[in-house]
Amino acid sequence: MKSWFNGKDLPVIGEYDVVVAGAGASGICAAVSSSREGKLTALVERYGIVGGNLTSGYVGPIMGGTSQGTMAEEIHRRLNVRPREVHDFELAKIELALLLKESGVDLFLQCAVADVLMQDKAKLTGLVVATQMGLGSILAKCFIDSTGDGTLAYLAGVPNEYGRSDGLVQPVSLMFILGGVATDAIYCEGVDPHVSVPTGEFTQLCKKACDEGVLPPRVNTIRIFHTGNPNERMINATQKNYVDTLSPKSISDAEADVRKQIQTILAFLQKVAPGYGDAYIKGSSSTMGVRESRRMVGEYTLQDDDIETGRKFPDVVVHNANFLIDIHNPNGGGQAEGITRRVPAYDIPYRCLVPQHIDNLLVSGRAISGTHRAHASYRVMNICMPMGQAAGIAAALCVENGITPRNLDVALLQERMTCLGIDLFGDQPLRYPFNPSN
Ligand SMILES: Cc1cc2nc3c(=O)[nH]c(=O)nc-3n(C[C@H](O)[C@H](O)[C@H](O)COP(=O)(O)OP(=O)(O)OC[C@H]3O[C@@H](n4cnc5c(N)ncnc54)[C@H](O)[C@@H]3O)c2cc1C
Repeated sequence: MKSWFNGKDLPVIGEYDVVVAGAGASGICAAVSSSREGKLTALVERYGIVGGNLTSGYVGPIMGGTSQGTMAEEIHRRLNVRPREVHDFELAKIELALLLKESGVDLFLQCAVADVLMQDKAKLTGLVVATQMGLGSILAKCFIDSTGDGTLAYLAGVPNEYGRSDGLVQPVSLMFILGGVATDAIYCEGVDPHVSVPTGEFTQLCKKACDEGVLPPRVNTIRIFHTGNPNERMINATQKNYVDTLSPKSISDAEADVRKQIQTILAFLQKVAPGYGDAYIKGSSSTMGVRESRRMVGEYTLQDDDIETGRKFPDVVVHNANFLIDIHNPNGGGQAEGITRRVPAYDIPYRCLVPQHIDNLLVSGRAISGTHRAHASYRVMNICMPMGQAAGIAAALCVENGITPRNLDVALLQERMTCLGIDLFGDQPLRYPFNPSN
């Protein structure tokens, strides 16, 4: 059989009310929410697995918090997440796929968004996807970009920003899990409910080893977390700086480098860290992790000041978002601003999800509209999930009422979200760490 694409007319693979690009933390919540609102919904994912960083990225613990009642709680229950512990990636692979199936989402795996179809400069009509059968198209009335890289928005012509003012982004990393670790072997201690950092003598040992070339350049911080298995530890330590996180060549070079770093870090731990003598590599992320790339420019850009002052917005869709301004140093090791730079709980307004120029598109997850420093806080998964949920409900409402996201009455969206039990305006305590039993 020949390729679907005959060089002239793209075959239509499917036609939907809402199409979500990217099946990570925010895309799953977006697709499930749109489908639960009764809209025919497709989710398109370039890899052969759903979850994004939650699964194939080996990223955990799931960090950050928001107000009560969001889909993040449902996901935590399904993944049996325990406070300060990395979730079980194998369970996540199963549960997230089940969640999508039960919610009636049509899933297109191994299907990368490669281009867009436009009716005019402001309206998207479809995604051009690259499949093993060649190129095809998936049509829809409304679209959500949850690719993390803001790829769909970029292809549609939405302006975007990249990195901080000097053009650098946070370093890339490859996460891995060690087995064969003694039960009482060291791990990072919690400095607050949200995050754990390495402390004490071990921190100094890592810095010295990096200075002396025992550890790779700029790998001077080894963050160690518990998993559900007492003889395992999740390691967040490999890093490569100065990577262009949108360039296939730069990404490929970095992937090889950070993968090699795993063995050096293991050898270091085996030698200096009590309880790691028999440690071995149990598993690693199947793809290098990109912390930062494009941020699309929306109707409002969340400012540093909004985060630092805990600003509240009348068009809030994610309430009481809470996480540090956690900038992994773009041109060095460790954190750029220190790990304890806490901020008060802030709101994310709907306008940060609505891109400029394009009428029938929303963005959720780490590519929403915000500054480099604001992004460093809202990029964590517990905050990305409610963004996706809000985008999914908003898209469904737009299709229902035949309007564009820009013209959607936010009060209608907020009313629907409140009906679903999401606290958008209250002063209830933050829902973190979640208790999976409630
Ligand atoms: C190394 C590292 C460590 C981190 N540590 C933590 C942590 O400990 N805790 C925490 O909460 N957060 C952490 N983060 C941040 C967090 O994981 C991400 O910011 C978050 O997952 C973003 O969610 P998302 O849904 O926007 O994107 P992602 O989870 O990245 O999902 C995007 C999805 O879109 C797909 N996609 C991309 N492009 C296309 C395309 N063209 N076509 C089709 N599909 C596409 C991707 O394959 C992916 O499945 C870490 C990030 C990294 C990289």
